[in-house]
Amino acid sequence: MSDTTGTEPMIRAEEIHKNFGSLRVLKGISLEVAKGEVLCLIGPSGSGKSTFLRCINHLEKVNAGRLYVDGDLIGYRQKGERLYELSPKQAARQRADVGMVFQHFNLFPHRTAIENIFEAPVQVKKQPAGAARARAAELLETVGLSAKAEAYPAQLSGGQQQRVAIARALAMDPKLMLFDEPTSALDPELVGEVLQVMRDLANDGMTMCVVTHEMGFAREVADKVAFMDGGRVVEIGTPAQVLEHPKEERTQEFLSKLL
Ligand code: ADP
Ligand code: MG
Repeated sequence: MSDTTGTEPMIRAEEIHKNFGSLRVLKGISLEVAKGEVLCLIGPSGSGKSTFLRCINHLEKVNAGRLYVDGDLIGYRQKGERLYELSPKQAARQRADVGMVFQHFNLFPHRTAIENIFEAPVQVKKQPAGAARARAAELLETVGLSAKAEAYPAQLSGGQQQRVAIARALAMDPKLMLFDEPTSALDPELVGEVLQVMRDLANDGMTMCVVTHEMGFAREVADKVAFMDGGRVVEIGTPAQVLEHPKEERTQEFLSKLL
Protein backbone atom coordinates (compact mmCIF):
# COMPACT_ATOMS: atom_id res chain seq x y z
CA MET A 1 0.00 0.00 0.00
CA SER A 2 1.71 3.16 -1.18
CA ASP A 3 0.86 6.45 0.40
CA THR A 4 -1.40 8.68 -1.67
CA THR A 5 -2.28 11.25 0.96
CA GLY A 6 1.22 12.56 1.56
CA THR A 7 0.75 12.32 5.31
CA GLU A 8 2.33 8.92 5.77
CA PRO A 9 5.79 9.23 7.34
CA MET A 10 8.74 8.10 5.25
CA ILE A 11 9.80 5.75 8.04
CA ARG A 12 7.60 4.32 10.73
CA ALA A 13 9.23 1.82 13.07
CA GLU A 14 7.04 0.09 15.64
CA GLU A 15 8.70 -1.99 18.34
CA ILE A 16 11.48 -3.30 16.12
CA HIS A 17 13.41 -6.20 17.58
CA LYS A 18 16.51 -7.72 16.06
CA ASN A 19 18.63 -10.55 17.44
CA PHE A 20 21.81 -12.14 16.23
CA GLY A 21 21.42 -15.60 17.71
CA SER A 22 21.02 -15.03 21.44
CA LEU A 23 22.38 -11.48 21.23
CA ARG A 24 19.53 -8.97 21.44
CA VAL A 25 20.67 -5.98 19.42
CA LEU A 26 17.47 -3.96 18.88
CA LYS A 27 15.07 -4.09 21.82
CA GLY A 28 11.95 -2.34 20.61
CA ILE A 29 12.82 0.64 18.42
CA SER A 30 9.87 2.92 17.71
CA LEU A 31 10.26 6.16 15.81
CA GLU A 32 8.99 8.11 12.84
CA VAL A 33 10.70 10.19 10.19
CA ALA A 34 8.42 12.45 8.16
CA LYS A 35 8.98 13.11 4.47
CA GLY A 36 11.65 15.74 4.00
CA GLU A 37 12.97 15.31 7.53
CA VAL A 38 16.53 14.60 8.59
CA LEU A 39 17.01 12.22 11.52
CA CYS A 40 20.47 11.95 13.07
CA LEU A 41 21.17 8.79 15.05
CA ILE A 42 23.83 9.13 17.71
CA GLY A 43 25.03 6.80 20.42
CA PRO A 44 27.92 4.66 21.57
CA SER A 45 29.51 1.94 19.47
CA GLY A 46 27.48 -1.27 19.61
CA SER A 47 24.18 0.43 20.43
CA GLY A 48 22.51 -0.87 17.27
CA LYS A 49 22.59 2.21 15.01
CA SER A 50 23.97 0.41 11.95
CA THR A 51 21.71 -2.57 12.51
CA PHE A 52 18.67 -0.31 12.55
CA LEU A 53 19.70 1.36 9.27
CA ARG A 54 20.41 -2.04 7.73
CA CYS A 55 16.91 -3.23 8.66
CA ILE A 56 15.40 -0.25 6.82
CA ASN A 57 17.36 -1.26 3.73
CA HIS A 58 16.63 -5.01 3.91
CA LEU A 59 20.26 -5.81 4.65
CA GLU A 60 19.04 -7.37 7.90
CA LYS A 61 15.71 -9.00 8.67
CA VAL A 62 13.71 -7.76 11.60
CA ASN A 63 12.73 -10.47 14.11
CA ALA A 64 9.65 -8.72 15.41
CA GLY A 65 7.84 -5.45 15.02
CA ARG A 66 6.66 -3.51 12.03
CA LEU A 67 8.76 -1.31 9.85
CA TYR A 68 7.16 0.82 7.15
CA VAL A 69 8.96 2.80 4.48
CA ASP A 70 6.67 5.26 2.71
CA GLY A 71 3.68 3.25 3.87
CA ASP A 72 5.03 -0.08 2.61
CA LEU A 73 5.58 -2.76 5.19
CA ILE A 74 9.07 -4.14 4.89
CA GLY A 75 10.90 -7.06 6.46
CA TYR A 76 9.11 -9.16 9.06
CA ARG A 77 5.96 -8.45 10.91
CA GLN A 78 4.44 -10.39 13.70
CA LYS A 79 0.79 -11.39 13.53
CA GLY A 80 -0.20 -13.61 16.38
CA GLU A 81 2.54 -16.17 16.52
CA ARG A 82 3.41 -16.07 12.84
CA LEU A 83 6.14 -14.11 11.14
CA TYR A 84 5.74 -12.91 7.58
CA GLU A 85 8.58 -12.12 5.28
CA LEU A 86 8.74 -10.30 1.96
CA SER A 87 9.83 -12.25 -1.09
CA PRO A 88 13.36 -11.42 -2.31
CA LYS A 89 11.75 -9.75 -5.34
CA GLN A 90 9.56 -7.47 -3.18
CA ALA A 91 12.55 -6.63 -1.00
CA ALA A 92 14.69 -5.79 -4.03
CA ARG A 93 11.96 -3.55 -5.44
CA GLN A 94 11.70 -1.62 -2.17
CA ARG A 95 15.45 -1.38 -1.71
CA ALA A 96 15.81 0.24 -5.14
CA ASP A 97 14.09 3.34 -3.69
CA VAL A 98 16.47 3.68 -0.75
CA GLY A 99 20.01 4.99 -1.13
CA MET A 100 22.71 3.99 1.31
CA VAL A 101 26.13 5.48 1.92
CA PHE A 102 28.60 3.62 4.11
CA GLN A 103 31.70 4.59 6.04
CA HIS A 104 33.80 2.83 3.40
CA PHE A 105 32.82 3.97 -0.03
CA ASN A 106 32.98 0.59 -1.84
CA LEU A 107 33.39 2.11 -5.29
CA PHE A 108 34.29 -0.27 -8.12
CA PRO A 109 38.07 0.24 -8.38
CA HIS A 110 38.27 -0.52 -12.10
CA ARG A 111 35.52 1.89 -13.11
CA THR A 112 35.83 5.66 -13.46
CA ALA A 113 33.86 7.99 -11.21
CA ILE A 114 31.15 8.50 -13.82
CA GLU A 115 30.96 4.77 -14.63
CA ASN A 116 30.48 4.03 -10.93
CA ILE A 117 27.51 6.40 -10.92
CA PHE A 118 25.63 5.18 -13.99
CA GLU A 119 26.29 1.45 -13.52
CA ALA A 120 23.22 0.75 -11.33
CA PRO A 121 20.69 2.85 -13.28
CA VAL A 122 21.69 0.94 -16.42
CA GLN A 123 21.97 -2.53 -14.85
CA VAL A 124 19.14 -2.37 -12.32
CA LYS A 125 16.74 0.21 -13.72
CA LYS A 126 17.51 -0.61 -17.38
CA GLN A 127 17.96 3.05 -18.25
CA PRO A 128 19.48 3.77 -21.68
CA ALA A 129 23.24 4.27 -21.30
CA GLY A 130 23.24 7.75 -22.87
CA ALA A 131 20.57 9.13 -20.55
CA ALA A 132 22.14 7.48 -17.51
CA ARG A 133 25.54 8.96 -18.36
CA ALA A 134 24.04 12.44 -18.81
CA ARG A 135 22.31 12.17 -15.43
CA ALA A 136 25.56 10.92 -13.85
CA ALA A 137 27.36 13.99 -15.21
CA GLU A 138 24.72 16.21 -13.60
CA LEU A 139 25.13 14.41 -10.30
CA LEU A 140 28.90 14.82 -10.45
CA GLU A 141 28.30 18.53 -10.79
CA THR A 142 25.94 18.45 -7.80
CA VAL A 143 28.69 16.95 -5.65
CA GLY A 144 31.30 19.33 -7.09
CA LEU A 145 33.30 16.75 -9.05
CA SER A 146 32.66 17.48 -12.73
CA ALA A 147 36.39 17.64 -13.34
CA LYS A 148 36.87 14.09 -11.98
CA ALA A 149 34.40 12.21 -14.20
CA GLU A 150 37.12 10.08 -15.81
CA ALA A 151 39.23 9.57 -12.68
CA TYR A 152 39.50 6.13 -11.08
CA PRO A 153 38.74 5.80 -7.34
CA ALA A 154 42.45 5.37 -6.49
CA GLN A 155 43.10 8.78 -8.05
CA LEU A 156 40.57 10.47 -5.76
CA SER A 157 40.86 11.58 -2.15
CA GLY A 158 38.66 9.90 0.46
CA GLY A 159 36.34 12.90 0.51
CA GLN A 160 36.03 12.84 -3.27
CA GLN A 161 35.37 9.09 -3.26
CA GLN A 162 32.63 9.55 -0.69
CA ARG A 163 31.06 12.31 -2.81
CA VAL A 164 31.08 9.91 -5.79
CA ALA A 165 29.43 7.30 -3.54
CA ILE A 166 26.70 9.82 -2.64
CA ALA A 167 26.19 10.65 -6.33
CA ARG A 168 26.01 6.92 -7.08
CA ALA A 169 23.24 6.47 -4.51
CA LEU A 170 21.37 9.50 -5.86
CA ALA A 171 21.51 8.12 -9.41
CA MET A 172 18.81 5.63 -8.43
CA ASP A 173 16.47 8.53 -7.56
CA PRO A 174 15.93 7.36 -4.00
CA LYS A 175 13.11 8.70 -1.88
CA LEU A 176 15.16 8.11 1.24
CA MET A 177 18.91 8.29 1.88
CA LEU A 178 20.64 6.38 4.69
CA PHE A 179 24.12 7.41 5.79
CA ASP A 180 26.14 5.24 8.15
CA GLU A 181 29.02 7.29 9.56
CA PRO A 182 29.84 8.71 6.12
CA THR A 183 32.72 10.83 7.39
CA SER A 184 34.22 8.55 10.05
CA ALA A 185 36.91 7.11 7.77
CA LEU A 186 38.00 10.49 6.40
CA ASP A 187 40.95 12.64 7.32
CA PRO A 188 39.62 15.59 9.31
CA GLU A 189 40.27 18.12 6.55
CA LEU A 190 38.05 16.15 4.15
CA VAL A 191 35.02 15.85 6.43
CA GLY A 192 33.64 19.30 5.62
CA GLU A 193 33.24 18.77 1.88
CA VAL A 194 31.17 15.62 2.42
CA LEU A 195 29.01 17.25 5.09
CA GLN A 196 28.42 20.17 2.71
CA VAL A 197 27.04 17.81 0.05
CA MET A 198 24.78 16.24 2.68
CA ARG A 199 23.64 19.64 3.90
CA ASP A 200 22.75 20.65 0.31
CA LEU A 201 20.76 17.42 -0.09
CA ALA A 202 18.85 18.08 3.11
CA ASN A 203 18.12 21.64 1.98
CA ASP A 204 16.76 20.23 -1.29
CA GLY A 205 14.22 18.28 0.75
CA MET A 206 15.72 14.78 0.73
CA THR A 207 14.55 12.57 3.61
CA MET A 208 17.65 11.35 5.40
CA CYS A 209 18.71 9.11 8.28
CA VAL A 210 22.28 9.83 9.29
CA VAL A 211 24.36 7.92 11.82
CA THR A 212 27.04 10.39 12.78
CA HIS A 213 29.41 11.62 15.44
CA GLU A 214 29.44 15.08 13.86
CA MET A 215 27.45 16.97 16.47
CA GLY A 216 27.83 20.28 14.61
CA PHE A 217 26.14 18.73 11.57
CA ALA A 218 23.40 17.19 13.72
CA ARG A 219 22.76 20.47 15.50
CA GLU A 220 22.52 22.41 12.28
CA VAL A 221 20.86 20.02 9.83
CA ALA A 222 18.80 17.51 11.82
CA ASP A 223 15.10 17.98 12.42
CA LYS A 224 15.30 15.18 14.98
CA VAL A 225 18.12 13.58 16.90
CA ALA A 226 17.76 10.12 18.43
CA PHE A 227 20.18 8.94 21.08
CA MET A 228 20.48 5.15 21.06
CA ASP A 229 22.03 3.01 23.75
CA GLY A 230 21.81 -0.73 24.34
CA GLY A 231 19.41 -1.34 21.46
CA ARG A 232 16.89 1.26 22.57
CA VAL A 233 16.09 4.85 21.67
CA VAL A 234 16.83 6.51 24.99
CA GLU A 235 15.84 9.98 23.91
CA ILE A 236 14.52 11.59 20.72
CA GLY A 237 13.69 15.19 19.96
CA THR A 238 14.94 18.33 18.28
CA PRO A 239 18.68 18.98 18.32
CA ALA A 240 18.06 21.64 20.95
CA GLN A 241 16.20 19.16 23.16
CA VAL A 242 18.57 16.22 22.82
CA LEU A 243 21.95 17.91 22.32
CA GLU A 244 21.58 21.08 24.39
CA HIS A 245 19.14 19.99 27.08
CA PRO A 246 19.24 16.20 27.33
CA LYS A 247 16.85 14.85 29.93
CA GLU A 248 18.35 11.40 30.31
CA GLU A 249 21.48 10.79 32.29
CA ARG A 250 22.84 8.38 29.69
CA THR A 251 22.50 11.03 26.97
CA GLN A 252 24.23 13.61 29.17
CA GLU A 253 27.06 11.21 29.88
CA PHE A 254 27.52 10.31 26.20
CA LEU A 255 27.56 13.95 25.11
CA SER A 256 29.95 14.99 27.86
CA LYS A 257 32.48 12.41 26.63
CA LEU A 258 32.42 13.91 23.13
CA LEU A 259 33.63 17.29 24.32
P1 ADP B 1 26.55 0.51 16.16
O1 ADP B 1 26.36 0.79 14.70
O2 ADP B 1 25.68 1.36 17.03
O3 ADP B 1 27.98 0.58 16.57
P2 ADP B 1 25.80 -2.19 15.44
O4 ADP B 1 24.41 -2.10 14.96
O5 ADP B 1 26.87 -2.29 14.43
O6 ADP B 1 26.07 -0.98 16.45
O7 ADP B 1 25.97 -3.44 16.38
C1 ADP B 1 25.16 -3.69 17.50
C2 ADP B 1 25.54 -5.01 18.10
O8 ADP B 1 25.20 -6.05 17.20
C3 ADP B 1 27.03 -5.17 18.39
O9 ADP B 1 27.16 -5.88 19.59
C4 ADP B 1 27.52 -5.99 17.23
O10 ADP B 1 28.64 -6.73 17.57
C5 ADP B 1 26.33 -6.86 16.93
N1 ADP B 1 26.25 -7.27 15.53
C6 ADP B 1 26.09 -6.45 14.47
N2 ADP B 1 26.01 -7.15 13.32
C7 ADP B 1 26.13 -8.46 13.66
C8 ADP B 1 26.12 -9.69 12.93
N3 ADP B 1 25.95 -9.72 11.59
N4 ADP B 1 26.24 -10.84 13.63
C9 ADP B 1 26.38 -10.83 14.96
N5 ADP B 1 26.39 -9.71 15.73
C10 ADP B 1 26.27 -8.54 15.08
MG1 MG C 1 27.73 1.35 13.24
